[in-house]
Amino acid sequence: MKSQDIRNTFLNFFEEKKHSIVPSAPMVLKDDPTLMFVNSGMAPFKEFFLGNAQPKNNRLTDTQKCLRVSGKHNDLEEVGYDTYHHTLFEMLGNWSFGDYFKKEAIAWAWELLTEKFGIDKDLLYVTVFEGSDDADKLPMDQEAYDFWKGHISEDRILMGNKNDNFWEMGDQGPCGPCSEIHVDIRSAEEKAKVDGKTLINRDHPQVVEIWNLVFMQYNRKANKSLENLPDKHIDTGMGFERLCMVMQGVQSNYDTDVFTPIIREIETITDKEYGKNEKVDVAIRVISDHVRAVSFSIADGQLPSNTGAGYVIRRILRRAVRYGFTFLDKKEPFIYRLVEVLVTQMGQTFPELKVQRQLVENVIKEEEASFLRTLDQGLILLDRIIENSQTKEISGTKVFELKDTYGFPEDLTDLILRENGYTYNHGDFDKKLKEQQGRGKEASQLKSDDWTVLIEDEEQEFIGYDTLEAQVKIAKYRKV
Ligand code: ATP
Ligand code: MG
Ligand code: MG
Ligand code: MG
Repeated sequence: MKSQDIRNTFLNFFEEKKHSIVPSAPMVLKDDPTLMFVNSGMAPFKEFFLGNAQPKNNRLTDTQKCLRVSGKHNDLEEVGYDTYHHTLFEMLGNWSFGDYFKKEAIAWAWELLTEKFGIDKDLLYVTVFEGSDDADKLPMDQEAYDFWKGHISEDRILMGNKNDNFWEMGDQGPCGPCSEIHVDIRSAEEKAKVDGKTLINRDHPQVVEIWNLVFMQYNRKANKSLENLPDKHIDTGMGFERLCMVMQGVQSNYDTDVFTPIIREIETITDKEYGKNEKVDVAIRVISDHVRAVSFSIADGQLPSNTGAGYVIRRILRRAVRYGFTFLDKKEPFIYRLVEVLVTQMGQTFPELKVQRQLVENVIKEEEASFLRTLDQGLILLDRIIENSQTKEISGTKVFELKDTYGFPEDLTDLILRENGYTYNHGDFDKKLKEQQGRGKEASQLKSDDWTVLIEDEEQEFIGYDTLEAQVKIAKYRKV
């Protein structure tokens, strides 16, 4: 089944169950102080859960663009190294606002996976919240357990702790116990190694969590206490790329048709082959993932910048540039060239990408070019420092100078040093940084913790973005 059909099958299934299909909300939140980016399908519906607003239909279904690179849900470091965490991903969801609850949510999830999608029941596991004896004193979710018992044998229902089975969007907001659905996609060979043992994602990377059914019944207040929501709601989130992996019978999200066209293009441009060398593979995965995050952010109106959400986007793009530079030998901009493939592939479902294509390409290209200049200069200097060092520990002052004078990011220096078997004196570095912060009060207006480029003409480009930002037309495409 093609990814496009998988997405439609999900949405149509819930439409048949009287849900209205709504488009994804923009990923960038401008008016929510508790969250920088939408990190789950429920974030845009927060007001409905709290009872502050009313949807036209109390059953909705959608695919929501999510970004998990900051705050409570931050998967950035995983991306590229595992095969199923992305920065940007689509979360398929069905929603009940004070309408149906656990019974229907569980029954329909089961029907969709095993009947519509035809996933073998013997490959599925589910989890149920075991309760907590911390300050919240939450009970075990016996109700969910009993509903699951009607569909799946009890040895496939596992208990989960608060970490995995109590869902919270952030430090505040609607939340509740949840049931996760895991699919075992291990190869026969892998299975033979631990024959008969019940496994879920926390035990084996190829028993993958695909769907989370959240039973929304509380609101976490600023003072950390929980209050009951006026009504009970259903919030489900299924990782679209992971579902595609299961449905397409592959072992990695990157081997689904969501990613293969981008990966083929990277191979063509860089003259490298995916699947031959681990470092190259990581770099290709990182770039194919990050180009999506950055492109969708820009299309939603969030450009790279030196503060807040823009700074997060800048860091993601620079992470991609750095992997291309180091492992794919790309010393000139190329990531912007992948946007075309993305538009062809995703433009129908997410028209904002098509509309903003030119802007997205221009911004990425400019950003790549400026960071590549920084990298070039910094790497030469770092090489020299390594060559001249008598010991395996570089002085913190030198690393600070690289950052302060040349804009070469500390975390990048750290990475390169580690790759070469070196370290640096973190204490000295921090001391220098504190001294500098004490000196320059004006600098506090600019978030310059790391990754900030201080080369003169860079500054001008960044100013250019601010002007561009004013020109971005954020498509108001969400109608509920
Ligand atoms: P995981 O334990 O794998 O990190 P999660 O429990 O943090 O996932 P949820 O918050 O429950 O994820 O989100 C609902 C669904 O979204 C998950 O079941 C998964 O399929 C998908 N998902 C979560 N994080 C990512 C990610 N970084 N990339 C791709 N899909 C994701
Ligand atoms: Mg997670
Ligand atoms: Mg989980
Ligand atoms: Mg989960």
